[in-house]
Amino acid sequence: MNNYDFIIIGAGCSGLSLLYEMNKSNILKNKTCAIFDKRKQFTKDKIWSYWNVFDHSFSDCLLNQWDKVIIKGNEEIALDCKDFTYQSVNSEKFYDKILKNVADNKNIKFFLDHSVDEISEEDGQITIKCKNEIFKANLVFDSSLKNNNTNDAKIYQHFYGCEVNFKESINLSKNPTLMDFNCNQGNWTHFFYTLPLGDKQIFIETTWISDQQNFTKEQYISEINEYVQKNLNYKKEYTLGYSEMGSIPMFHFQQNNKYKKVIKIGTAANLTRKSTGYTFLNIQKFTKELVQKLIKNQIITNNQIKSKYNFLDRIFIKVLLEEKGNMYKIFLRLFKKNNTKDIVNFLSNSSNFIQDIKIILSMPKLIFIKKLLNF
Ligand SMILES: Cc1cc2nc3c(=O)[nH]c(=O)nc-3n(C[C@H](O)[C@H](O)[C@H](O)COP(=O)(O)OP(=O)(O)OC[C@H]3O[C@@H](n4cnc5c(N)ncnc54)[C@H](O)[C@@H]3O)c2cc1C
Repeated sequence: MNNYDFIIIGAGCSGLSLLYEMNKSNILKNKTCAIFDKRKQFTKDKIWSYWNVFDHSFSDCLLNQWDKVIIKGNEEIALDCKDFTYQSVNSEKFYDKILKNVADNKNIKFFLDHSVDEISEEDGQITIKCKNEIFKANLVFDSSLKNNNTNDAKIYQHFYGCEVNFKESINLSKNPTLMDFNCNQGNWTHFFYTLPLGDKQIFIETTWISDQQNFTKEQYISEINEYVQKNLNYKKEYTLGYSEMGSIPMFHFQQNNKYKKVIKIGTAANLTRKSTGYTFLNIQKFTKELVQKLIKNQIITNNQIKSKYNFLDRIFIKVLLEEKGNMYKIFLRLFKKNNTKDIVNFLSNSSNFIQDIKIILSMPKLIFIKKLLNF
């Protein structure tokens, strides 16, 4: 009764992307799949942004897309990205699309409000336990973050973002601000991120890179209020709408290879780029490769981001740990000294050797060489 061909733990970005691609490729025509999540329902909870350097299945779920993004420090730098627009996916549209797509397939079963507590493997079958019930599968895809052992320093990109609604039209930028460093850096790295939503509406996120997981919501909101008044120079009343709060690990998890038939997916599979937190597009690439392997009956193993990015990001993080409050100067230098295509390809894991060299050479050499030597 509780036996399935596949089990997916987590109906978030990676779990649902996988379910969608498996269903689309007819893998689930004759095979069964159960998907578990501790959440009770699907509501808008994230905006996933990235440069569109890879075609994926969710381009009809966009909140919007832009051909220019801005970086602000003591000057303004514009990145012209007409050839690879900066896109934001609305998670609500993403969940709706996938739920509608799989609704008619009787081989797919959702278990919401089900937290998976235990996983074990015996005789080539995986058993999972939740709510004192046992479920079995031949292959399990797991996006839960139970094991957070790591060899890296535990730092996070933690943030709170919300829609700000003004009473009248104000002169808002038509382009996203990727990083606005005109704010208190504290002892770590701090910037604001904004997405234009209309003449009277903007999404503002306050982001910190630090060893903290989360500040209180009130603390983040007071930073956003200060940004509206000081940086947007808006002194009248406004209301706050949709909000999201998160913490993305800037480290990778040690992989537990105890169970060969439990394949990690999403952030749990280290698909998050350590230096930037970008994960969405990596998940889409990884999912498509995984589904191709399933179609061809190939052996599936746990995957990693290309090691050159892991290596470079580790040096970057070492520099960050030393420079902390001065790190904004290094970010600004990266954006100022390189052309947009090289930056975007580098940040999106699709740079070539020449582009890597250009980026490396644009960094302050002494600081980076010191960190490279005591690697
Ligand atoms: C608020 C926010 C904004 C982000 N924005 C961006 C962005 O703009 N661009 C980008 O590239 N990346 C972004 N990221 C990083 C990354 O893309 C997202 O975190 C993405 O959702 C990761 O996908 P995932 O499947 O690994 O995790 P999730 O989407 O979080 O899905 C994991 C799911 O597993 C469930 N779960 C966990 N443990 C259990 C358990 N034991 N049993 C059952 N269910 C369980 C959770 O409830 C959750 O639904 C963002 C992250 C956050 C938190």
